[in-house]
Amino acid sequence: MYKLLCQLFLAVIGQNLPEEIFEGTLYWLLQGKRKDRSVIDLNVKQFSLMTPYQLQVVGWPKEYIVSKTKKGRSKIHSILICEKFRQMFHTHKEEIFIPCHRYIKLWKDTSGEEQVRVILYFNSLKDKEKTKKLINTHSGFKNIYEDKILKYNLAVYDYSHMCSCVICSKFMPSYSERLQTNIIYDAMIFEHHQNHGTTVSNKDNWNHLLSQELICVECLYSKERQGKYRLNMYSPDNFKYGYGTINSPEERERINISNSLEVEKPDMINIPKYDKLTWMTPLDYGGSVRFMLDKYNMFYWHPSLTEDEYMRYQECKTLRIIENADPLDDDDYPSDEYEEYPEDY
Ligand SMILES: [Zn+2]
Repeated sequence: MYKLLCQLFLAVIGQNLPEEIFEGTLYWLLQGKRKDRSVIDLNVKQFSLMTPYQLQVVGWPKEYIVSKTKKGRSKIHSILICEKFRQMFHTHKEEIFIPCHRYIKLWKDTSGEEQVRVILYFNSLKDKEKTKKLINTHSGFKNIYEDKILKYNLAVYDYSHMCSCVICSKFMPSYSERLQTNIIYDAMIFEHHQNHGTTVSNKDNWNHLLSQELICVECLYSKERQGKYRLNMYSPDNFKYGYGTINSPEERERINISNSLEVEKPDMINIPKYDKLTWMTPLDYGGSVRFMLDKYNMFYWHPSLTEDEYMRYQECKTLRIIENADPLDDDDYPSDEYEEYPEDY
C-alpha cells in the first residue's frame, strides 16, 4: 500500500512525500469530515512546495486583503510578485533572493472579518534572513488607493524553527502545514505556548501537538541520535532573546556550548556502570528537551557527557533519590512523624 501511494505521489507532484506525512497528516484528514477530504489534494501539492525557511508577512491593510485585481488575482498576491516588491525586499547589492513559493490564505473569522495569512518560502537560510532584514527595517508605505491614502508597515515573523525537530532540525512538513493552515490559532499563540511549556488544547489533536516540543520519531527513540545532535538541540528558553539566526546549526551550537561553560562537568568517577538502565534514551529521563538544555535543571545534559554517561549519571541520581526517600506509611504516604514546630511559629 505504501509503495502504491509513493508511486501515486510521484506521478501527481513529481516527488515522494516524507513518510511522516502519511501518518501525520493524511491519516487525520481521512478521519475527518467529507469537507476535509476534499482538501487533501491541495495539501499534497502544498507539502511538496514547502521548505524549512519561512517568513510570515503581516501588516497588510484591510483594503488590500479584500480586493482583487482586474484579472481576478488577490491584490496581495499581485503585490508579492510585482517588480517593485522584488527590488525592495528580494534584492540587495545586485544579489537576488526570490522566494521559491508564496502561500496566501484568505478567510473570514467568526466575527465576519476578512483575514489573511501570507508566507514566503525560501530555498536557503541565507535568502530568508536577507529578506527578513529588508522587510523589518523598511520604514513603511504610503500608497494612494481609491482616493484614499493608505499608510501601512509590513513586518515578518519567523516561525521556521517551529517546523523542525528540536533535536536534529529535520524539517517536518506536516507540522509546517498545520501551523500555517490552522485558522483557529495564529502561529504566535503556539510559539507562546511552546515558550511557556503549556498547551493550547488538551485534546489529542493538532493544536495540542503543535504546542509541544516537536521531536521527530527517529530522535524520539534513538539514544545515538540524541547524543549526535546534543549541540544542535533547540530550546526556546535559550533563544528567546533573539540572538542571530536561530535556525542555523552554528548558532545553536554556539549557544549550547556557551551555556555549558558556566556549569562544571559532572564527575563520573563514582557513578557505577549499570547492567540495565530504567530508560531507553536520555530524553526519557527528564521527558523534555527544555529540561536537558536548562543549566539550572536537575536533568541538564552537560555537552561533554556522552549519551551513555548522561544516562548513567541520571540513573544514579534517580536511585539515590529513591534510597533517600522517607519510608512509606501504611496509607502509602511518607511517614508523618514531623519534628515539632518551634513554639513561636
Ligand atoms: Zn529529529
